[in-house]
Amino acid sequence: ATIAQTLNDLIRTGADDATALSSPGGVPLTFAALRALTARTVADLNAHGTGRGARIAIVLPNGPDMAAAFIALAAGAVAAPLNPAYTAEEFTFYLRDLGATLLVAAEGDETPAVRVAERLGIAVVRLSPTPEQGAGSFTLRFPEGAAAPAPQGGPSAPGDLALVLHTSGTTSRPKIVPLSQANVCASARNIRNALAFTAQDRGLNIMPLFHIHGLIAGILAPLSAGGQVCCTPGFSALKFFGWMGEARPTWYTAVPTMHQAILGRAGRNAETIAANPLRLIRSSSSSLPPQVMAALEEAFGAPVIEAYGMTEAAHQMASNPLPPRPHCPGCVGLAAGPEIAVVGPDGEPLASGETGEIVIRGDNVMAGYENNPAANAEAFTRQGWFRTGDQGSLSPEGYLTITGRLKEIINRGGEKISPREVDEILMDHPAVAQCVTFAVPHDKLGEEVAAAIVLREGADASEAEIRAFAASRLAGFKVPAKVLLLDEIPQGATGKLQRIGLARKLGLG
Ligand code: ATP
Ligand code: MG
Repeated sequence: ATIAQTLNDLIRTGADDATALSSPGGVPLTFAALRALTARTVADLNAHGTGRGARIAIVLPNGPDMAAAFIALAAGAVAAPLNPAYTAEEFTFYLRDLGATLLVAAEGDETPAVRVAERLGIAVVRLSPTPEQGAGSFTLRFPEGAAAPAPQGGPSAPGDLALVLHTSGTTSRPKIVPLSQANVCASARNIRNALAFTAQDRGLNIMPLFHIHGLIAGILAPLSAGGQVCCTPGFSALKFFGWMGEARPTWYTAVPTMHQAILGRAGRNAETIAANPLRLIRSSSSSLPPQVMAALEEAFGAPVIEAYGMTEAAHQMASNPLPPRPHCPGCVGLAAGPEIAVVGPDGEPLASGETGEIVIRGDNVMAGYENNPAANAEAFTRQGWFRTGDQGSLSPEGYLTITGRLKEIINRGGEKISPREVDEILMDHPAVAQCVTFAVPHDKLGEEVAAAIVLREGADASEAEIRAFAASRLAGFKVPAKVLLLDEIPQGATGKLQRIGLARKLGLG
């Protein structure tokens, strides 16, 4: 499948006048209009020399224009969305690394992206939203001067690339992930199936659209079922409930830190919640503490479906099933599309219940990192499985539990400690709202355990008290030698807590 075919199929099945995209308070955009916008954009690009396989960096604020630009550009070229918050130095790295030949930026863009692109000789196309014609619709202004038409125009084929992203950089320098049309459409199909999306679903997208989670689970998967998506200008826990009242969503997806922020305001918005029953809440991209899952289910009266995703898999690998099948707190569910196995150091599959590296194989998985033979040599097993770098185990029923990331294991003088195990214990302390266990450098041991903690509003606990609590539940060598009480724990751009490098960020090494 391809993105262009997906839009065509929906039109054939009668979705013409149904809403595809909307924005809080805006004019909705129909599927027919989204398809027309896509066809016009591909024709415009082709006429200006950009066709299938050409990489277009996109720097746009979150919202319906970004969602529509992703669909339209990925239908006939390769979309490469970048975080608008990058510095000039970061833009220089990403624009070069991607091999972008074009940058799409908003008319009047204030980010350093345009300046950097001009310096690198990358043509800049300006996008102006035309919201009066429907949320997400836009016009493009190409640079002056004639260009030869693109050699390969028209909609992309299944083997052509659709999307190029970098991994989040949680464990190392970000790696370039090229995803084909077939990869992204397979992932959208897998998510659609796991969550049983239909044309009756209304999503509320609060996820950033420069990350795979928002692009595929937030936008492409629901659209490919004929469902609509209300695109917000970006996450805000303060505005969330106002948007909810306006968009009347049936579901939303987010990362755990966002769910926690939403939960913090759920009590005073009980009326809005009661007036807008959700079919489901989805969580992915890092582990959702069971305490948070329980509190969310209680506050919203909806099942919280945790899923496991990564950039290299065009997002989803596993997902908890919908009721009446059981979804389990602290686990990421069943293989949802790709095959999943847990292997030992020799690459051989382990028995259920045994802990090893999680490997995957399926049509949503990238063919390999770009310009990175060293990473590729490590990333694939001889049997063609992709190594996720995550550690976990499968239950006899096929439920996958992630126990940590191989690179995040703390090595305390030879004793291996899973930071997640320590997090899970600390989260049980009644005063703890958020917790990240991480390694700090130590003269003699190499690494020592530390934990950064945010306390619940109004709660009180001392560092010594929290260490004593940990000592009552954990072997001595796993007890954090340092506990830092913070107002906020630093996160990566995609809302992830980054254990690696946290010590440096907090001035501990
Ligand atoms: P890098 O690969 O550059 O270090 P990254 O792995 O964080 O960064 P992403 O592709 O955004 O980049 O994230 C994928 C990773 O996120 C997975 O490998 C896994 O470690 C983690 N993850 C995703 N979903 C979950 C989940 N539900 N529970 C626990 N971890 C998750
Ligand atoms: Mg990764």
